Amino acid sequence: MPSNGVSRAPALSMPTYPSNCLEFARPFLTPETSESDCGVDKAKVSLNVLLVGAGLGGLATAIALTQSGHKVTIYEQTPVLGEVGAGIQVPSNSTRALFKLKLKPYLKPYVTEPESISFRRWQSGKVIGSTKLVPDFTENFGTPYYVIHRADFHSAMCQKVQDMGIEIKLGARVENYNPVAGSITLADGTTYYGDLVVAVDGWSHAQSYLRITLTFIATGIKSVARKMVLGGKDMAFRRPGFAAYRATVDVERMRNDPEVSWILERPALNIWIGNLRHVMTYTIGAGKAFNMVLSHPDTTDPSTWDPVKAVDDMKAEFEGWDPVLTRIIGMVEKTLKWPLISGSVLDRWVSDRLVILGDAAHAMLPYMSQGAAMAVEDGLALCRSLSKITSNEQLAKSLSIFEKVRMQRAGQMQEASMLNSHLWHFPDGPLQEARDAAMVPEVEGRPFSHSPNQWSDPATQMWCYGYDTEKAIDEAWEAELTNDA
Ligand SMILES: Cc1cc2nc3c(=O)[nH]c(=O)nc-3n(C[C@H](O)[C@H](O)[C@H](O)COP(=O)(O)OP(=O)(O)OC[C@H]3O[C@@H](n4cnc5c(N)ncnc54)[C@H](O)[C@@H]3O)c2cc1C
Repeated sequence: MPSNGVSRAPALSMPTYPSNCLEFARPFLTPETSESDCGVDKAKVSLNVLLVGAGLGGLATAIALTQSGHKVTIYEQTPVLGEVGAGIQVPSNSTRALFKLKLKPYLKPYVTEPESISFRRWQSGKVIGSTKLVPDFTENFGTPYYVIHRADFHSAMCQKVQDMGIEIKLGARVENYNPVAGSITLADGTTYYGDLVVAVDGWSHAQSYLRITLTFIATGIKSVARKMVLGGKDMAFRRPGFAAYRATVDVERMRNDPEVSWILERPALNIWIGNLRHVMTYTIGAGKAFNMVLSHPDTTDPSTWDPVKAVDDMKAEFEGWDPVLTRIIGMVEKTLKWPLISGSVLDRWVSDRLVILGDAAHAMLPYMSQGAAMAVEDGLALCRSLSKITSNEQLAKSLSIFEKVRMQRAGQMQEASMLNSHLWHFPDGPLQEARDAAMVPEVEGRPFSHSPNQWSDPATQMWCYGYDTEKAIDEAWEAELTNDA
């Protein structure tokens, strides 16, 4: 804040169009409200919330709503809490929301902060695109970009849930919803009533691999709540034609191999891109394990996949790729194969007292690394929208504003994720050459105004990582109130 007698600039206010021209003046324009980890707004009306699903999205939402003063009970079908899979990226828009929920000290022991992301040519490993994450993302977007093991992310949130005294009912599979009554019915026939039912029941990510493979094609991917919100007729998931192997490699083994050890020297994300395939890598567990996601074309029925052959199949998919990469792939001892899906863009997320969010509402290809980030943003956004209501009668308005804001944001993220499935997967040829040429300035450290690398492209960066979910809700409420007036 200026202290030299220079006055505030009352004629200036943050523009309503997407612009950063007044960033320098932010301290003059907004009261110095503190850190991002200052907590959420207190609710004026305290609601009894039944929350279904204790995945990453459900836990974040439960934490937000409880901090705001609502009474939350979580219903989770699995008898034991946990997360499957390996690493997950926690981009700056997600850390902003998580810090707001006071999760920073819970996450800190487990996170790695990668310094950069390098796009590499499939055949040679040559760097063709580059984004500096440290210190740029914290400087530009206020909070860091992390990677973490999923199990650590989940257990950090579980710890917070436990410390806050939020009740989790395990082995509680919800089989039916009554949106008008605000009730859920469990498999054992018990019915519970609340002011609001929040369903974060995913698309099946945290369910067992076997269950996914057996039910994926046979029954489609189902969130019971989504079907209910859509009036009993679920919308099919899209399978854009890819599957991913997920694996971790022992870093000690890599360190002992001089041909690949250099990749561990600095914490970084590295992604090799080529015809219809890519491999995303980074270290997790504060540097203890090397995480790999290997995406490749596959339209076959997951129930036919043979887990015993997975490692060999994976190696075959990437034959002829950069020798450094194939050497690391050669160190993989076990892997899981996942079908990659993208949810259809829904026309509603709310039915009376029932709202869906997270993957149930907007499953997406993992190619922007934003699926869980969107679920976390959803939770904070719902909390903010509910904090505005002064009576139970305003619940419908609050949910409708939440739905409108979040459907646009998550829908655009689905689109951005799908776009990467094209941008990264060009076969060698003119389009690939033009793409790579467009990333040369960022690799050489020259100024640029656009990039096919969506981590670098200035407009995409601002929209993706600079997004403030609470501000978006505030603006939508203001517009609504102006309309009413
Ligand atoms: C290969 C891959 C890589 C990814 N990488 C990233 C990344 O880097 N960054 C990122 O942000 N996202 C990433 N994602 C996406 C991310 O994993 C998901 O978006 C996120 O886990 C969704 O969380 P959720 O809470 O909505 O759903 P889920 O995690 O699926 O949780 C749903 C919960 O609801 C429970 N449940 C379901 N039905 C019922 C019922 N009827 N009754 C009671 N409980 C029920 C389930 O058991 C589960 O615990 C990736 C995804 C994949 C596949």
